[in-house]
Amino acid sequence: MRLILPVPRTPKGALDEKNIAKLRTIHHIQYVEFVRASTMTLTRRNFLKTTSGAALAGCTLWAPQVAYSQISLGDMTLDVVSDGSLHIPGSFSFGSMPQNELASILQAYDQSLDVLTPPCNVTLLRQGDRNILFDVGSGPDFQPTAGLLVESLEALGLAPEDITDVVFTHGHPDHLWGLLDDFDDPLFTEASYMIGKAEWDYWLDPNTVDAISSDRTAFAVGAKRRLETIEDNISFFKDGEEIFPGVAARASFGHTPGHMSFEIRSGSNAAMVVGDSIGNHHIALARPEWVSGSDQDGDLAATTRVNLLDQLASEQMPLIGFHINKGGMGRVEKIDDGYRFIAET
Ligand SMILES: [Zn+2]
Repeated sequence: MRLILPVPRTPKGALDEKNIAKLRTIHHIQYVEFVRASTMTLTRRNFLKTTSGAALAGCTLWAPQVAYSQISLGDMTLDVVSDGSLHIPGSFSFGSMPQNELASILQAYDQSLDVLTPPCNVTLLRQGDRNILFDVGSGPDFQPTAGLLVESLEALGLAPEDITDVVFTHGHPDHLWGLLDDFDDPLFTEASYMIGKAEWDYWLDPNTVDAISSDRTAFAVGAKRRLETIEDNISFFKDGEEIFPGVAARASFGHTPGHMSFEIRSGSNAAMVVGDSIGNHHIALARPEWVSGSDQDGDLAATTRVNLLDQLASEQMPLIGFHINKGGMGRVEKIDDGYRFIAET
């Protein structure tokens, strides 16, 4: 295996987008290129054949999450395909929480207070001739440990041009920026796009870049620029609409102003793609009512999270969480003060 050490890329687009890439040190760039080279050589399928990823031993800190899960609902198949993982300062998510209790809860989950490295789980729904993606991952310009969706799809025998539809949960970089390739061209050339109307209106509003918190300015600039590239090929939906046979949109506002989840149903069997409305397997479940700095409207997001978890637990409906560990697919169970996640792999 040859280690490729490229000249660092300069992110394209508005100057503000460079701010979000501060974590992209030369070391990280070299590392992710190494990981990319590794996964391409091994292929993801071969990698999965290894018992515990031993082929990438030594790369655990920055290795992409390649967890893989699948569920069938009638004639539909849901797969989780990995886009890699992120590297987020703990203060970004945890800063607003009661620190003493937080520390003991995180310890129980073996979760650091200082840094989060959440996986990015893109959902693929195959239904007849349709290959539908829920979100498109980070692409090349967000963080060096993410943007691996194309390789993951390849492991399932799918190329970008095989994707017929893309549905967005929301417009944050790790869900949207994978829309464009290294050359800033649309990657999914044959796809039609859908997004919740409120989410579209928010990111396309020229006032958003000034109104959003200063640490998210790059999010606003990046979302608007990317969404404008598909302006002629995107349609909108609202809460409760059936966007494909058996697929209903579910408003789950708070993480972003127009965040959407999706209930996918065949008869009495159903699963829910929750995006970032349930943002992790630890604190979001243990204390769903706590306000998280990850959410743009923390209070509304907490209310949404509490309601969703109540439903998912009482109906024992499988969920797929974009940043939930072990492939993101599983169920939630009520425990004393909150919930716990039981992975379904
Ligand atoms: Zn996210």
